[in-house]
Amino acid sequence: MKIICLARTYAKHAKELGNPVPENIVLFMKPATSLLKPGNDFYYPEFTKDLHHECELVVRIGKNGKHIDPQFARNYIDQLTVGLDLTARDLQADLKSRKHPWEIAKAFDHAAPIGKLIPLPEKDFHDIHFELKKNGESVQTGHTKDLLFKIEDIISYISQFITLQQGDLIFTGTPEGVGSLAIGDHLEAYLEGEKLLDLKIK
Ligand code: ZN
Repeated sequence: MKIICLARTYAKHAKELGNPVPENIVLFMKPATSLLKPGNDFYYPEFTKDLHHECELVVRIGKNGKHIDPQFARNYIDQLTVGLDLTARDLQADLKSRKHPWEIAKAFDHAAPIGKLIPLPEKDFHDIHFELKKNGESVQTGHTKDLLFKIEDIISYISQFITLQQGDLIFTGTPEGVGSLAIGDHLEAYLEGEKLLDLKIK
């Protein structure tokens, strides 16, 4: 199982971090060891002083595929949820400034908590609302109509390079509103109003 994450797929988020809006899909990966399944707490790591939340729609791959045509891409997704692309923003900023890969800032253990997976809804991928609450207050809201790339095109693009396998997860990128976390924070993430993720930072 692998986790593929998209970067800068919402224009307002690219802007808030001072990044240009990309013309092409930009992706990176997290290893299987970064997955944090529902029901577990997250322990704030000692190597960062600026851990950020990025709340994202996550799609799960339901069957293996390579060179997937966008018109058939939906058939390769069987479940959805919300996830947090946890990021050591201070490490990432330092690596970016030196033009190094930012892997350790995003691929560390348990850097990818996910919510409960739900079956693929009938509705269009690009009409899905999601939200993150921190300590009961809404901090991020997203609507997939604002995605700069269609999910079908994202699946197709990835599969030109990397074989997608059943169980793989794709984090589709964060809307604006990313921010710092502290020990004691309580995070709840919702998809279409249904709470799927409940996480405590310890
Ligand atoms: Zn992200």
